[in-house]
Amino acid sequence: MAPSAATRRTVIENCAIATVDAQDTEYASGHIVLADNRIESLGAGRAPETLENVVRRVDGTGHLATPGLINTHHHFYQWITRGLATDHNLFDWLVALYPTWARIDEHMAHAAAQGSLAMMVRGGVTTAMDHHYVYPRGAGDLSGAIIRAAADMGVRFTLARGSMDLSEKDGGLPPDFAVESLDDALAATEETVRKYHNSSFDAMTQIAVAPCSPFSVSTELLKQGAELARRLGVRLHTHGSETVEEERFCQEKFGMGPTDYFESTGWLGEDVWMAHCVHMSDSDIAAFARTGTGVAHCPSSNARLAAGIARVPDMLRAGIPVGLGVDGTASNESGELHTELRNALLVNRLGAHGETALNARQALRLGTAGGARVLGRADQIGSLATGKLADLVLWRLDGIGHASIADPVTALIFGPPAPVTASFVDGRQIVENGRLLTADEEAIARTTRDEARRLARIAAGD
Ligand SMILES: [Zn+2]
Repeated sequence: MAPSAATRRTVIENCAIATVDAQDTEYASGHIVLADNRIESLGAGRAPETLENVVRRVDGTGHLATPGLINTHHHFYQWITRGLATDHNLFDWLVALYPTWARIDEHMAHAAAQGSLAMMVRGGVTTAMDHHYVYPRGAGDLSGAIIRAAADMGVRFTLARGSMDLSEKDGGLPPDFAVESLDDALAATEETVRKYHNSSFDAMTQIAVAPCSPFSVSTELLKQGAELARRLGVRLHTHGSETVEEERFCQEKFGMGPTDYFESTGWLGEDVWMAHCVHMSDSDIAAFARTGTGVAHCPSSNARLAAGIARVPDMLRAGIPVGLGVDGTASNESGELHTELRNALLVNRLGAHGETALNARQALRLGTAGGARVLGRADQIGSLATGKLADLVLWRLDGIGHASIADPVTALIFGPPAPVTASFVDGRQIVENGRLLTADEEAIARTTRDEARRLARIAAGD
């Protein structure tokens, strides 16, 4: 795309830059030129004075610029059911919460999406995703409400249209009233893709096909969901290998572990990414690597539910695309992604590889370029390079929390959560000094509290 006379340029300079490109190129002090919604150029030192159509110059002194953070797994609706079942493992936690979740409506879904998005965006997320799989009958247009919340906030977004069709009466985990029929789930998913999916380079909204998990969907929904996604040319997402209970469920019901079961239903491939992947054998990791299947690593949620430690260093060594996920905020009440970079590093060092498990730059890569690969958008986002979309964050590192840490990337990952001075998505600034420019945070706080209380009352039968 050649710049035209109407091109509007923003120059950011005097900041450290971690590009997270293939060579991990960094500049101790450099500049980035944004032209409309793209990165036009970047490099060491100041930007050329001769640039035309510069509408803004940002002095990045004391800051680190990185690609915007990319979240690859979440459940927005859980924003209004936080702090419940706090001392449970996955299956007990799900059984405790399903009856409440099955009562959500369109207003609740919209408010919860705003809360989830606001929390992430003010912390440097520029691409969000929501795996939404609870569609109670008569609840309204939940997918539309979620997509509207993301569009209004100005964040790049993937909705993984989820589904559940395997309830208790069929040997599944969710109650009967919380699931859709196979045909309804497939038809609604196809309709959502046709209505909202944008496949262009600078798409702000994309849709994936996302049956929930092996213990809440039928084999037929997995098989036909995979066929649907490939017919429509969109990606596939689900939960996999999260707990030992899931492993046991698959062994008893299908005579094989989750990864073999996914392979038998068409669910391994470079168009698939899966959340968690905690309990993976060497052959499971080899199967993901062979097929190019991606992983959304969710360290806080895995710790909260005592699921275990995913083998991220082994996955990276095998060449598997790995991104980071907040996961739903009923199992990670903080709802932030920038803290997951630190948590991923620390949690993995508690695993088999010790202090060599992950370093700061690998953690930054998980939250940026790794996430872009997982979402199938590595050509467009995830690193700072000429021609890529202008999604980036300026982290303030000259304050009390970071100023005395020697290296900016180390400061960002090992230090306390860094303040976001500016966050740009598609060339548009949406955060300034830690505050959203595109939404009213106080109004969101009030609405989400009210909707959480309304849901609790309805669930209690009042
Ligand atoms: Zn999840």
